[in-house]
Amino acid sequence: MEPENALASENGPLESSSKTQNQEEATKDGPAEMLDMPKEDSLSAHSESAIGGAAARYNSALDMTLKALLNIKVLKEDLKNNTQRFQQVPSALQHFFNAFVSESIKTEGVYSCILSDLLSSLEEVISKSSDAAKVVVAILEFWFCWKNPEGESLVTRLFTLAENERMSCRKCRWITNYPEKSSYTIVMPADSIRQLKCAFESMKFVDILKVIRMEYQKSCDIKTGGCGESNFVHHFISRCPPVFTIVLEWEKSETEKEISETTKALDLELDISRLYVGLEPNTNYRLVSMVGCGEEEEHICLAYENNRWVNLGRESLAGEDVSHWKSAVIFFGDFKVNLREESLSGEDDGNWKSVVSFFGERKIRPEILFYEAVGSMA
Ligand SMILES: [Zn+2]
Repeated sequence: MEPENALASENGPLESSSKTQNQEEATKDGPAEMLDMPKEDSLSAHSESAIGGAAARYNSALDMTLKALLNIKVLKEDLKNNTQRFQQVPSALQHFFNAFVSESIKTEGVYSCILSDLLSSLEEVISKSSDAAKVVVAILEFWFCWKNPEGESLVTRLFTLAENERMSCRKCRWITNYPEKSSYTIVMPADSIRQLKCAFESMKFVDILKVIRMEYQKSCDIKTGGCGESNFVHHFISRCPPVFTIVLEWEKSETEKEISETTKALDLELDISRLYVGLEPNTNYRLVSMVGCGEEEEHICLAYENNRWVNLGRESLAGEDVSHWKSAVIFFGDFKVNLREESLSGEDDGNWKSVVSFFGERKIRPEILFYEAVGSMA
């Protein structure tokens, strides 16, 4: 349960991003100097091979995770309002931010070059990774270097969840406070979500998450004066980050039926005061984008845009509308029945039920869910 890959220590991310920058500079000054000045013919040959290389080095987890991130409104606003500060960040990131803000990413060619540039800067961490959860952390650590005038990182401000845990023993009333833990995501096992949804059909997603977390008990520490009894742990956060990110961990051997049953548990809105003690009731977050992974390890990004859900394609910013994905699948035991009817009408929430059917039918496992605080979206 510990999001070990998601810990954001104050030094870690800074070190890793400055290392990447140095390596970039080393490559620039290295072999390139040994080459003769290219003539015009070889220039065009070079750019063709660069495009070929970029295609070969495509990483769908990176592409789709970036698209999902850029659909977060509060992040978009930050990028648009702080263009002058891009100078301080590594060049690949500078290019990416600038292109995004200037809305110059109109063609697939431009986008794939910027993406390939970013991929080479992050290569050590994600070149072969098809694990979207690792990719999110790699991107956020790379972005960590980007700070506002107060010296606070964009990543700390928008994405970091600083959690405290407290155990109050039901037997001897001993109270234990655990050290604060910082992470970018909360990680939840897909199979536990599915089991709970199947057992309690009307249970909300946030309550499913709460029950799963309650299963992880800690024992009342004898060494510090406790009695050894196992107890629930209460979670606190002192500040609600504008973005709340949930990672679903899959076995990757799930059937279509299991994927479908799991995605049915997801909700468009979460009230995180159900998860953390002491928050105002109705501390609501809304799902704005998701990264999913199919059977061939290809990733997709579903984004909520202009009141509809859109499946964003590879190396382009155009999307396929999935709000009218009209088919539904019903299971009787292991028998599957496809209903291709208008049974999923209802235009509210961009037709969320259609999105759920889309995941099940295409056998795509939702891996990353980006929720945005409703207050910060207004
Ligand atoms: Zn106790």
